[in-house]
Amino acid sequence: MVAVATIEQFQAGLRGELIQPGDPAYDEARKVHNAMIDRRPRFIARCVNVADVIAAVGFARENNLTVSIRGGSHNVTGFAVCDDGLVIDISRMRGVRVDPAKRAVRAEGGCTWGDVDHATHAFGLAAPGGIISTTGIAGLTLGGGVGHLTRLAGLSCDNLISADVVTADGRFLTASAEENPDLFWALRGGGGNFGAVTSFEFRLHPVNTVFAGPIFYPLEKATEAMRNYRDFMKQAPDEMNAFFAFLIVPPVDPFPAELHNKTVCGAVCCYVGPPDKGEQVVRPLSEFGPPLMVGLAPMPFPALQTAFDGLVPAGLQGYWKADFATELNDELIAGHVKHGPAVPTVNTAMHIYPVSGAAQRVGKNDTAWSYREASYVHVIAAMYENPADTDKNREWVRTYFDELHPHSAGGAYINFMGEEGDERIAASYRDNYQRLADIKRKYDPTNFFHMNQNIKPSNGRG
Ligand SMILES: Cc1cc2nc3c(=O)[nH]c(=O)nc-3n(C[C@H](O)[C@H](O)[C@H](O)COP(=O)(O)OP(=O)(O)OC[C@H]3O[C@@H](n4cnc5c(N)ncnc54)[C@H](O)[C@@H]3O)c2cc1C
Repeated sequence: MVAVATIEQFQAGLRGELIQPGDPAYDEARKVHNAMIDRRPRFIARCVNVADVIAAVGFARENNLTVSIRGGSHNVTGFAVCDDGLVIDISRMRGVRVDPAKRAVRAEGGCTWGDVDHATHAFGLAAPGGIISTTGIAGLTLGGGVGHLTRLAGLSCDNLISADVVTADGRFLTASAEENPDLFWALRGGGGNFGAVTSFEFRLHPVNTVFAGPIFYPLEKATEAMRNYRDFMKQAPDEMNAFFAFLIVPPVDPFPAELHNKTVCGAVCCYVGPPDKGEQVVRPLSEFGPPLMVGLAPMPFPALQTAFDGLVPAGLQGYWKADFATELNDELIAGHVKHGPAVPTVNTAMHIYPVSGAAQRVGKNDTAWSYREASYVHVIAAMYENPADTDKNREWVRTYFDELHPHSAGGAYINFMGEEGDERIAASYRDNYQRLADIKRKYDPTNFFHMNQNIKPSNGRG
């Protein structure tokens, strides 16, 4: 129990709000993107600046409270909220400042990719983020970050120049190649283990109009379409990104009515460069089949980034499993073709994201993110509205994953993982794990920040 006077003192010192059970805002404030998560924190501190974050860390430490950090709240595990403890909610901290001369952006920890894209696009620049604009920059970057610009410019974390961090002891540190380089190394893939990140500075790239959109193929051509995709990606320039998917076409515009609710496979493409060049580069995909639909067009980059937001609104039930793959080998393709067509409900999907091009030119020990030799990460992501559909979605995800797992590269991408245990976490980092555990011991020896894919502080080593 925390004394009323102590709570009042904490509340009076905050610029943001302190929300507690019984407050009208409480139930909304404890919701995350995944509607399966139903945690009841004792306090939610909606921070509006770094001072609030430092105060919240201090309050939790002094009162022995479990802490979680809320960024964009997209993580399928719901680690952004905790039971009984304190949520340090950073989602109101959304300032963005672009420095066009330096080709850099400084974004506060609560920004979504939509916030960053909007600000940088005004300068014809972009930072590599995820494929949905409502995802938080914080969780996505700290876990790695794959998206349409991965091949061109690397993972989101590869583009981090510096980060401001409030550590477990309440210090405010900058992590960069020059300052606290060990912390900087750990933040690039090590998740939310090392402190509350209050702002991120990213390198920007000239990205303006892209030639982009989906191509759908009939299921009867799935094997050939996947092999064609594999061959295409092997020779594609870095400017070309395409992720492969099995999905049910949602019954909404702009999808043609004859495809509504039909299960298809296909690729979502993004070429960065002149549209006529893009049209030419993507031809092996757009002319294969023939496709059921080619939705490619020149568009401003933020239009692509927001194009699929409506398909994954907050409030869907979420259950995901993922693995890396070194190659899209014939065994994996056979597994996909066996299970992909059985996608049970609209919104649920399987995506295969390329992790190649610039992302593979970073060494596997250069950042905490280890799987640099993997060319792909596949995620089998159940997202559906009706809780009554849980059994069939879970069953589909599990059997699909089990079929692919023996042919995958192992490990797991922490941003796509559920609560799968310490072994899977360690397997994601491989020989980077011990170094991460040592850095955790230095910056968070009591494991104060443990609502995450948790790296335990090492004991007695290093
Ligand atoms: C619809 C959807 C689309 C997605 N698309 C992509 C994609 O294209 N590419 C991709 O790589 N991933 C994608 N993801 C996965 C996504 O990267 C992870 O879910 C990520 O953790 C989300 O970050 P967040 O800030 O939104 O989430 P949160 O749930 O708020 O946070 C995730 C984790 O990070 C910690 N954390 C959050 N903020 C901070 C902070 N400021 N400081 C320290 N720790 C913090 C949290 O405590 C938690 O452990 C997607 C997820 C969803 C639901």
